[in-house]
Formats: sequence, C-alpha cells, structure tokens
Amino acid sequence: MKLDVDALRYLSKDDFRVLTAVEMGMRNHEIVPSELVDRIASLKHGGTYKVLKNLLKHKLVHHDSSKYDGFRLTYLGYDFLAIKTLVNRGVFTAVGRQIGVGKESDIFEVANEDGSILVMKLHRLGRTSFRAVKSKRDYLRHRRSYNWLYLSRLAALKEFAFMKALEEHGFPVPNAVDCNRHCVVMSLIHGYPLVQVRELQSPEAVFERILGLLVRLAEHGLIHCDFNEFNIMIDEEEKVTMIDFPQMVSVSHRNAQMYFDRDVDCIYKFFSKRFNLSLEEQIDNPDNSEEDSEGSSRPCLSSISKSVGFLDKELAASGFTRKEQDDMDKFVEEGKDNDICSDEEENSAGMDETIVRDVDSLHLLDQQVHLIKGDEEKNEENRQSCEGQLSEPCGEDESEENGNDAELVKRLNKQRRRAIAAVHRGGKTLASRNSYKDKGGRSSHNSKIQKQLSSW
Ligand code: ADP
Ligand code: MG
Repeated sequence: MKLDVDALRYLSKDDFRVLTAVEMGMRNHEIVPSELVDRIASLKHGGTYKVLKNLLKHKLVHHDSSKYDGFRLTYLGYDFLAIKTLVNRGVFTAVGRQIGVGKESDIFEVANEDGSILVMKLHRLGRTSFRAVKSKRDYLRHRRSYNWLYLSRLAALKEFAFMKALEEHGFPVPNAVDCNRHCVVMSLIHGYPLVQVRELQSPEAVFERILGLLVRLAEHGLIHCDFNEFNIMIDEEEKVTMIDFPQMVSVSHRNAQMYFDRDVDCIYKFFSKRFNLSLEEQIDNPDNSEEDSEGSSRPCLSSISKSVGFLDKELAASGFTRKEQDDMDKFVEEGKDNDICSDEEENSAGMDETIVRDVDSLHLLDQQVHLIKGDEEKNEENRQSCEGQLSEPCGEDESEENGNDAELVKRLNKQRRRAIAAVHRGGKTLASRNSYKDKGGRSSHNSKIQKQLSSW
C-alpha cells in the first residue's frame, strides 16, 4: 500500500481530532455513525462533517451508508494516527522509502532528528492469506464483523514485546525502539534477508548458528513459528539477525512440537537446496537425530531443556492481556497453516518482485525524505501525545450507548436540522438518509474521550 505522508503536514488539529473520534467509535462500531463521530469529536464550532469530507478526500476514512450513515478508519488513517503519535513523542521526524513488503506488513525507513535511520513496521493483518480464511475461522464466525485494525495492533504489541524481551536475553534481534497502535519502530538491520543470499563463505557455520538460535529460543520457552529464509537477516560478516515475531508461541503450546519441527525443516530444506549441504536424511524426519554428513544432528524439541513461562511473563509485563494473547494466538494459529517456508521453485515468481524492491531498498534514505512536521507545531505537540488505541470491537452491540442524554439529543436534533437545511440548499451532506439511531451516551465515557481528544 502506498503511504503518502505529504497530507500529514496539512492536517489540522481538528482533522486529527475527528480522525481520533472515528478510531474511538470503532471500539464498538464497525462503521461509526456520523452523529457519534460528531459527538465524540465535539468540535467547538461544529464542522465535523466538513472535516470528515477532508479526511475522506485524503482516504483516511471510508464512508459507508449501507445500513446507516457512518465512517470507519482506513489503514492509511490508522497509519497517520500512529505516525503522528510517534512523531509527537520524538521517535522520528521523517518517513522515507519503503524497504520491505512483508506478508502482512509494510516496512519503511524513518529518520530521527539527528539523521539516524530507523525502521517502521506497519502491521496489516488480513491483507493477504488471512483474508481468504477469515470466513473459516471459528472465532470469527461468531462475530458479524471483525476489526483488522484491532488484530494489527495486537500483532504490533506482541512483536514489540518479544523483540524487547529477546534483545534483553541476548538474542540477535533489532533493537525495539517504540510501538504505537499497529506500528513498531526498531533499529535498521544492515543486511539482507537470507532468501536473497546466493553465496555464503561458510554456509555450514551459518546453518549451525541459525539452528542454534532455534534451540536457544526453545530453551527460553519459545518457538518462532515463522523461522525461515525471509525472516533471517544476514550481514556482510555473515552475522545473523532474526526478525518478525508476532506469531511466536510458547513451548507449552499444544502444537509446539509441530511448529518447532516445521521451523527446523524450513532451515534444513533451504540450506540443503540453496547451499547444497547434505542434510536430506534429516529433512521431514524429526526422529532422526543422528549426525549427518555435516556433523550436526537435528534438534529435537523433547530433548531441549526448556524454561516454560518466559513467554507469558514477558507478555504480561508488556501490558498484553491474556485475552489479547488468546485472540492473537487463535488468529495466527489458523493463519500459520498457510504460511510455510518456501520451496524455492514455488516461490520464485512471487518473490522476485519483493527481492528487487528489497535490494533497491538497501541504500539508505535518499533525498526524498518527507519532513512531516513543522517546528512551530512541535513544541505544543510534544507536550501532549495521544495514546488512543483500538480495543476489541463488539460487532453491532451498542449497549454501551444506552442511556438518556438530553444534551446529546439536543445536539443531534441540531445536527439533523443542519443536514436537512443542507439538503434543501441542494448541498450534498455527509449525513445520510438512513440516519443512525444513537441512543445516548454515558457522560463518564464522554469525559474520558474528551480528555484523550484534547491531546491532539
Ligand atoms: P512480515 O511480518 O510482513 O513478514 P517482516 O518483519 O518479516 O514482515 O519484514 C519484511 C521485510 O522487511 C524483511 O524481509 C526485510 O527485508 C525488511 N525488514 C524488516 N525489518 C527490518 C529491519 N529491522 N531492518 C532492515 N530490514 C527489515
Ligand atoms: Mg516476515
């Protein structure tokens, strides 16, 4: 997906206020009724509809009037909220070129004030294979809708927590810098994904190092679950760095054995094909732990002494709730069956494009860095940063909105009158024919929202 951050420079405080209002409304609405957006945003001089029109023009929100008139955030809108927050926090000041397109993410270089380059990973769950299996997923079947933004946020949160924990335990991973919404900021790895590497000085040593990582992870109670040539970076000195952690599971997972063996298989197959290591006997044969001709034996999960509990502890420390963890696990687990390591031939067509793009991306930021923030804005914004996060949506359930709020009714009536007047004037209003029946709101809920919104 193209990420054009130019518009970010021209968006006003009100634009962000309304965008955040849509995000907040999505906590319990798939499509947020226009009236609710207006109520949450509570712009001093009205004008929510005008702002929504502007957001629509920039493709930051999507308009839907199939059931009632409403809006939802687009991925771009969500990107902007995350980027704005991270810029406000001083994590980076400019967004550069895209350096990677993962299965379910877009990766960009970003620069901070002193010119150093970091990596921003925007999670996009549901973009590819997951979308196809959505209808088959048990836990989604019970919902009328599912919020991909919520899942992407969980993926980012989990990835950030793991990256941090793994780094603290001495694993070769990028340095986890910050995280907001579906976005993780980390250090740039100066290297290539292993899939792009045609030659190694000592493939055996690299192979051993990589397998050693799998074993060490298991000793820490973890299985990567997507441990393959796309998620292992290698630099000029043949130093290995692991990336991509949202799908990791504990060794106590009921399918742990299968995931572990699959990770091992991916590495065996890749090294056997690409670097002609003679590992054939041990491929697809987890029971064969005899030494191969390279002198190594295939790691076996049951013979690794593990410290179970690491995963739960680290995730809990990061604020990742049990429920979020379960949601994420269910989602990832079903997706995992579709995500297998490559048999090179099968993948070649699809990967070429990515490889070309990735190789191109290895140059550092060029002159096209987009400065996304004016100095005059910065001081004020730095003082306040919005932490708005999507929580789990609850489909069509609007029970939270029940109650009698005279103030709201008054405002809604006023709004309707304005909308009718606009229609009479022949102007096209964003309020639709199928007006949403808002049932009021709780004032405590409102004041919490107001507090959060005032930070934009
Ligand atoms: P996905 O979860 O979508 O597979 P990844 O985290 O694997 O995303 O990243 C996709 C690609 O982006 C990687 O193959 C790599 O080329 C690039 N990439 C990701 N993280 C970094 C990083 N920290 N430094 C350099 N390149 C990176
Ligand atoms: Mg990956």
